Amino acid sequence: MLKKTFGTMATALALASILSASTQATAVDGFDTTQHSLTAANSPWVVVNKKHPLNPIQYVPANLVTPKQFNGGGLRLAKPAADAFLKLALAGKAAGVGSISIASGYRSYTRQVAVHAEDVRKFGLIAGEKLAARPGFSEHQTGLAIDVWAPTQGCRIRVCFSTTKAGKWLKANAWKYGFIIRYPDGSYPITGYQFEPWHIRFVGSELTTKMHSTGETILERFWEYPASPKY
Ligand SMILES: [Zn+2]
Repeated sequence: MLKKTFGTMATALALASILSASTQATAVDGFDTTQHSLTAANSPWVVVNKKHPLNPIQYVPANLVTPKQFNGGGLRLAKPAADAFLKLALAGKAAGVGSISIASGYRSYTRQVAVHAEDVRKFGLIAGEKLAARPGFSEHQTGLAIDVWAPTQGCRIRVCFSTTKAGKWLKANAWKYGFIIRYPDGSYPITGYQFEPWHIRFVGSELTTKMHSTGETILERFWEYPASPKY
């Protein structure tokens, strides 16, 4: 009996110390850094880059949907990204910056084989891989990344998208809808990708609000991940 009581007390003490440590580590400014996984492929916070492929490598999201608006190509997105994208696109339209539409959404492992091969063929290995990920290493495979464009403003999947009305509005406002510009200008040494003002990644507004308040624009740096310019 005594032994049992002692054991229970020891467990309670150990638990209290774990709870206290985790509270200190995770509840900075009320922002819980452990609320989503950074590694699970279906997590809104998953970090996918040249050092962190999808797991499993041929992951397919279970919650793909085809947005009915701002999606002339009938492309698919993971549901949370689709819901947030609709709000973003409607807000952009209301703000007078035109129809921000999906140029590329979910891409399967197999589709990425072709996309990667095409960019490497066109631009060579070094420049091609600053644009297109190897299969299994693309955020597009999560269904949470979108390449957007404004059909009437040109600059489709080109750096000059950043100078369009839609591109400027997106840079200033995407965070309000839970998206980040995933590969900001000059981020190549950390992200491994050239400036892609058209590529937005859904991470949820809790994280984008936190990033916005800290001024951090690069996901790897926010999570103190190592730079990943290379495979
Ligand atoms: Zn993209």
